[in-house]
Amino acid sequence: MKIETSYSANLPSRFGLFKIQAFKEGYKEHLAIYKDPLKEIPIVRIHSECLTGDAIGSLKCDCRDQLEFSLQEIENRGGMVIYLRQEGRDIGLLNKVNAYALQDKGLDTVEANHQLGFRADERTYEIVEYILEYFGIKKIRLLTNNPKKIENLGEIEIVERLPIVTGSNVYNEEYLKIKKAKMGHLF
Ligand SMILES: [Zn+2]
Repeated sequence: MKIETSYSANLPSRFGLFKIQAFKEGYKEHLAIYKDPLKEIPIVRIHSECLTGDAIGSLKCDCRDQLEFSLQEIENRGGMVIYLRQEGRDIGLLNKVNAYALQDKGLDTVEANHQLGFRADERTYEIVEYILEYFGIKKIRLLTNNPKKIENLGEIEIVERLPIVTGSNVYNEEYLKIKKAKMGHLF
């Protein structure tokens, strides 16, 4: 896997002053957003792209709330958000919209993925190990509500898991319930 790396640049944001650096893996371009300087054991959030949630503010999921919570958290306590470009648990935007159309007919998020021929979750995390090693990070405190999401990050040690606290709404209540019941989420 050949990975191209950008320079590091400043990014003033509504959450605070961050540094960003991009990593290009084939046709996918990922982003590390971090607070400089990084601590020896930083808080790390691994966030997978969700265009409908992150950019449009969709209420069908909790992605934007999780992203905003994480950015605020690294602004307050230091750390890094790794923004992975694997839309729709890596089935891509077109398939995700098709999955939403099936959900409109009453299927849940897992059933919809299965009907389209995908697993409930197609995401992979090799690039995360690469990015953390690039920054010389050997130990992390992982910000996640899904303890099953990342059980192995190669040489990187997960010393602690920190929860993300967000609310629910009338549209994503069912989705959050399914994530808890079928996908091992804690919150
Ligand atoms: Zn989402």
